[in-house]
Amino acid sequence: MADLIPTPDSPGLHVSKPSPTTPATASAVCHCGARATATGDTQVKALVDGYTANHGPAHAKGGK
Ligand SMILES: [Zn+2]
Repeated sequence: MADLIPTPDSPGLHVSKPSPTTPATASAVCHCGARATATGDTQVKALVDGYTANHGPAHAKGGK
């Protein structure tokens, strides 16, 4: 799965939840240079929401 983790050369958002009893983890790298990681379902959801709202595709809509 390591090859799915985003890097500056391959920006994106990756969420992993290996099993129902394992906390989710996420890593995000945006082409603007922002990057973040999160562990735990609540933190991962916040990361995904923030990335979606402010980075990634949001840049194309005139976002930051
Ligand atoms: Zn960005």
